[in-house]
Amino acid sequence: MKLRNYVSGQWIEGKGAGTALIDPVTGEELARASTEGLDYRAALDYARRVGGPNLRKMSFAERAALLGKISDVLVANKDKYYAIARDNSGNTKIDAMIDVDGGSGTLKYYSAIGKGLGEAKYLRDGGFDRFGKDDTFQAVHIRVPLEGVAVHINAFNFPSWGLWEKVAVAFLSGVPVLAKPATATALLAHAMVEDVVKAGVVPEGALSLVCGSASDLLDHLDRRDAIAFTGSAETAAKLRSHPNIIRNSIRFNAEADSLNSSLLGPDAKPGAPEFDLFVREVHREMTVKAGQKCTAIRRALVPRALADDVTEALRQRIAKTVTGNPRNETVTMGPIVDKVQQKNVLDGLAQLKREAKAVTGEGAFKPVDADPAKSAFVPPTLLRCDSPAGARAVHEIEVFGPVSTLMPYDSPDEAFALAARGGGSLVASVFTADDAFAREAVLGLGASHGRVMVIDDAVGKLQTGHGIVMPMCVHGGPGRAGGGEELGGLRGLRFYHQRLAVQGNKARMAALAAAAAEVGV
Ligand code: NAP
Repeated sequence: MKLRNYVSGQWIEGKGAGTALIDPVTGEELARASTEGLDYRAALDYARRVGGPNLRKMSFAERAALLGKISDVLVANKDKYYAIARDNSGNTKIDAMIDVDGGSGTLKYYSAIGKGLGEAKYLRDGGFDRFGKDDTFQAVHIRVPLEGVAVHINAFNFPSWGLWEKVAVAFLSGVPVLAKPATATALLAHAMVEDVVKAGVVPEGALSLVCGSASDLLDHLDRRDAIAFTGSAETAAKLRSHPNIIRNSIRFNAEADSLNSSLLGPDAKPGAPEFDLFVREVHREMTVKAGQKCTAIRRALVPRALADDVTEALRQRIAKTVTGNPRNETVTMGPIVDKVQQKNVLDGLAQLKREAKAVTGEGAFKPVDADPAKSAFVPPTLLRCDSPAGARAVHEIEVFGPVSTLMPYDSPDEAFALAARGGGSLVASVFTADDAFAREAVLGLGASHGRVMVIDDAVGKLQTGHGIVMPMCVHGGPGRAGGGEELGGLRGLRFYHQRLAVQGNKARMAALAAAAAEVGV
């Protein structure tokens, strides 16, 4: 089967043999994807000409209702999607739910908050500004939707969530989308878009999907368009410096990779609830989606005096992980997405092992119900680096798999400095019952992170998870993490709007402001 591309309101099959999409457990080919021969210029033009006006004529409340309808289609078909996520991404049921339900849930969330913006079609940004004693001449700032296309380039690890979290914000803003999932796992995005198109809920031209290479797509963008990219820092740098992107100052948001850390507070000794919560979280982040999450805990920072206790507690927990074919119900961790990524993980691990010793993951390993020769498994591997200040690779190499390095720290300031050695990260978490340490950690970590989660016993059962991106919180991080920002409730709408200052007669400015939705961001 060859996945077709949905552009210019039609399903079009790419030419040539295309790229094979495989099952990472059996090695079997599931489908092929090709964009060869696609006319990207025409596809973008159609989205701008037809999709843009169709969305912009709708009010926020109407666009919010549209998001709700898309979410309903996805929820109605979710069992089919879980199966695709298992087959093409090697997801366990929980992994698949994070991706599939994460996508439909984010659409529902934006549908709910968008409804509150009512009949407006643009946003107001702040209050009125006057220029002199006579206030007849004034200014007001508003934000109007972009008139181009939102080009969404996504990573392989979240084919559903990555697609819909971006679509939700662009559609609510009134901007059409051309989505390009990562080729390796495009099967899920393809099935979802096929169902949504079939359901007839999306206005003509508003949604396009390409499965396969982006080829010359970026050459045809212009200053009206915006790119939201998720993937590796290396690809982000390449796309960001594309001559056409630079020449036309095309908006570019990057969500890239990250060596996130989690800190155990000096107070959280064995027996303290925060100690157990920390161990549970590090283990969960290593094994959910086989550690293939941009937000996963790559570095676990613990007070030196507690390092042996944490090592032992994690070793015991990791020993209970059942790695193998997710079709077997006893399995709790699946494979790496393909052989290429498996090799990347093993190569990265070899580099980390020059600075850190393996606590788990060494020795004979046989995945449950899978042939190691055909499949792409890596066992959950905890490393320990006792001199992290003098190490380099453990802070710089993102091993995108079930791998985390435990590092002892000698003082809170050293812990914050080690976390910052990641070069800018998406998220850090802190496990402590000590309010003063919690505050110190938030401020010590703040400038190098996009999100800090502070956990004590009171929120231990309520917390949403170190690695789970909630749509109400901003997602992104400085430096290596891409320097971008997505989601964050209505804050996310900024990216798809042009802010402008409008100057004129006070009464006209008041009328303009009155017709806008006030989002207060
Ligand atoms: P990747 O290799 O950088 O690819 C990401 C996307 O870019 C894919 O859709 C890829 O398409 C596309 N791409 C590659 N070269 C391109 C080009 N020249 N022009 C246009 N598009 C191009 O990353 P990945 O291996 O899929 O994902 C893993 C990485 O993503 C990890 O580093 C992870 O940390 C990061 N990630 C970050 C976040 C976040 O929110 N910050 C979320 C998830 C993952 P093809 O697949 O067709 O090559």
